[in-house]
Amino acid sequence: MTNPFSLEGKVALVTGANTGIGQGIAIALATAGADIAAAGRSEPTETQKAVEGLGRKFLSIKADFGSTEPVQRVVDETVAAFGKVDILVNNAGIIRRADSIEFSEADWDAVMDTNLKVVFFLTQAFAKQALKQGVDGGQAKVINIASLLSFQGGIRVPSYTAAKSGLAGLTKILANEWATKGINVNAIAPGYFDTNNTEALRNDADRNAAILARIPAGRWGRPEDIGGAAVFLASPASDYVQGITLPVDGGWLAR
Ligand code: NAP
Repeated sequence: MTNPFSLEGKVALVTGANTGIGQGIAIALATAGADIAAAGRSEPTETQKAVEGLGRKFLSIKADFGSTEPVQRVVDETVAAFGKVDILVNNAGIIRRADSIEFSEADWDAVMDTNLKVVFFLTQAFAKQALKQGVDGGQAKVINIASLLSFQGGIRVPSYTAAKSGLAGLTKILANEWATKGINVNAIAPGYFDTNNTEALRNDADRNAAILARIPAGRWGRPEDIGGAAVFLASPASDYVQGITLPVDGGWLAR
């Protein structure tokens, strides 16, 4: 019997894989057998070393996801190098913090563009390629990196909450349209993870203590905590899972 969690022979395109959650996911997918195309604006040197150390192929693609400009090129470069692309992980994202009463249009647009608009158009370019390839090699997989703020309101992050709530909706509509076409679309909602994105929170002693006190697991998440969920949603094990946003949050939402 074949291992339903195996990604042998698969090609995964991961955005923002140089650090944090994207790096944890790229390494987990490579551990399960996938070759990795990493698209982002910073050189993913550490990730490349880890993936190649696992005996998998690695391609670095320079791309600034502040606009839709690179989306088609990123898919094309992946296909030029590997002949196909099976898995897309929309991980690259930003956050801007300020009171809603004085939140700027620039901070609204930057977060909505990177975290929602570009994700939609990169996913569209990926899906066109997946449909062109056909589904002989199994189902194509899209994994969106959502947030607890896909479920909750948060505070002082209005564009982030709007984008991540929108991403949960986008995950559902794309699943509705593509489930019969051999493309699974799902999301992962990380809880509070120890990455650059949350550095300001950890540096605020009061916020840090309040957050930790509410996490049943009693600690911040680490990038390697997210890998299992990503492998599941990237693998044949999840072929009948459509449109979900899976929390990986140490129990935060259960509280
Ligand atoms: P991170 O360490 O700040 O990583 C963010 C990644 O996105 C980096 O690779 C970053 O590249 C990339 N990125 C941002 N803007 C980009 C742009 N314009 N073009 C290309 N790449 C860009 O934070 P993280 O926590 O790992 O975040 C990864 C994802 O998880 C994000 O979508 C975030 O919203 C989500 N998330 C995080 C948490 C958490 O607790 N940490 C919780 C829920 C959801 P650079 O290194 O070049 O900036």
